[in-house]
Amino acid sequence: MTGAAFEEVIDPSTAEAFELYPVATADELDRAVGAARKAQPGWAALGWDARAQCLEQLADAIDAQTDWLATLHTMEQGMPFSQSLLYVSVAARRIRAMARYRIADRILIDAQDRRVTERWHPLGVIAAIAPWNGPLLLGMMKVVTALICGNTIVLKPSELTPLSTLEIGRLGLDLFPAGVFNVVGGGRETGAAMAAHPGFDKISFTGSTATGLAIARASAQFLRPMTLELGGNDAAILLPDGSADALVAAAAGTGFHNNGQFCAAVKRIYAPASMVDEVAGKLAALANGFVLGNGFEPGVTMGPIQNRAQFDKVRAFVADAKAVGGCAVAGGATLDRPGYFMQPTVFTQLTDGHRLVDEEQFGPVIPIVSYDDVDTVISRINAGPYGLTGSIWTADLDHGEAIAARIAVGSAAINRHAAFDAVVPFPLIKQSGMGIDYAEEGLKGTMRMQVMTTTLPPPDIEGAA
Ligand code: NAD
Repeated sequence: MTGAAFEEVIDPSTAEAFELYPVATADELDRAVGAARKAQPGWAALGWDARAQCLEQLADAIDAQTDWLATLHTMEQGMPFSQSLLYVSVAARRIRAMARYRIADRILIDAQDRRVTERWHPLGVIAAIAPWNGPLLLGMMKVVTALICGNTIVLKPSELTPLSTLEIGRLGLDLFPAGVFNVVGGGRETGAAMAAHPGFDKISFTGSTATGLAIARASAQFLRPMTLELGGNDAAILLPDGSADALVAAAAGTGFHNNGQFCAAVKRIYAPASMVDEVAGKLAALANGFVLGNGFEPGVTMGPIQNRAQFDKVRAFVADAKAVGGCAVAGGATLDRPGYFMQPTVFTQLTDGHRLVDEEQFGPVIPIVSYDDVDTVISRINAGPYGLTGSIWTADLDHGEAIAARIAVGSAAINRHAAFDAVVPFPLIKQSGMGIDYAEEGLKGTMRMQVMTTTLPPPDIEGAA
């Protein structure tokens, strides 16, 4: 974790550098991969229980450092300190939940002449590349998923939010055998070097679709597995008998939470024409209730957007929405202070074909789109490139499930949105990614299946000789 060069980390609430982090050189990356390769057979041989014990110790160490890790997390990521505390404790909880899994071999055929078994082996060394929106939590999910199954890992946090992950890497030095859990600092170049490095057996990436495609291209030469968690443009569809109150609570709780920098946030709302005003009024009231500011200031419920590029992108979405006739019923402006602050914003008068409806904003700006015919809404959603999550809001649960089944998303929900749980698989489809994360399916994604057929000797028939 030492680096020959150091880069600045920017505080998004001031737009000023406040810390340096080490950038791994090519040689250091090679050494991390080499250490991980060397350590992997021994780590796998320890067995599930001993590996789980190490991971539980990691969870304990994270819990013991909650305040410090949350402090780093808010400094680099920007979210309110109370939310960083939650992210840190959820990371520890999910490590424990995932470390309880055991992937067992299975007997497929147990006949007189043969036994056929399905066996599971770790893939080897996993490259994990994480984003900036939830750096600590997303990084730790990659760590536990790889390590519990007997793999070793080289994890690279985003260059925009490296500190909390590097700190956990430091904690891990005392908890794991050397070479098992490696953290390297670095940005785009280091990520690209990892994607093209022959020493990995799998790439696990969370980030933008564009980077996911670049990683897939670089990694294709090795034909190695990948789990890619990419972008989304998640819709919440209110049906005429649905609760506007429940929907707006979920929209604000995900679409404004962390400034909407949450992969499975509500990113657009479809409401029946007769209900648009009600939904807009209620969501605007929630938007206006947020207190923006530095995440360490008491009472602040929304921090800055995490980085300059994202801030500019969200501003461009807002400008475009206004230019095409969108009506900002809440927010719509940035704050006149240093840092990347955008008011939580609600737009009406937009339709499919407008940028804010069609593309992923990844910011605190939610469009409410009026509809007359739900079948048309489903066709529009399914025609789009993404398929991460979606939700249906209705009093008729059977009807809600029937509509949800027709939407091409990996995770659909009725009367809630983004129901994440470490024990529930998170399938990634279309340009939202590939593979499955979390739960048993996610763990199996870091393993390879081997089918073993053993020919059994003929039974010893008495007197045959
Ligand atoms: P990004 O793609 O810019 O960066 C993510 C990581 O990839 C960083 O660590 C970066 O250094 C690295 N990277 C950049 N270029 C690379 C390259 N050519 N090769 C290898 N690595 C490279 O993504 P971001 O802007 O940090 O994240 C925001 C995006 O992530 C959003 O689109 C969001 O939807 C998505 N996201 C998805 C999920 C999910 O579960 N589906 C979760 C969180 C975020």
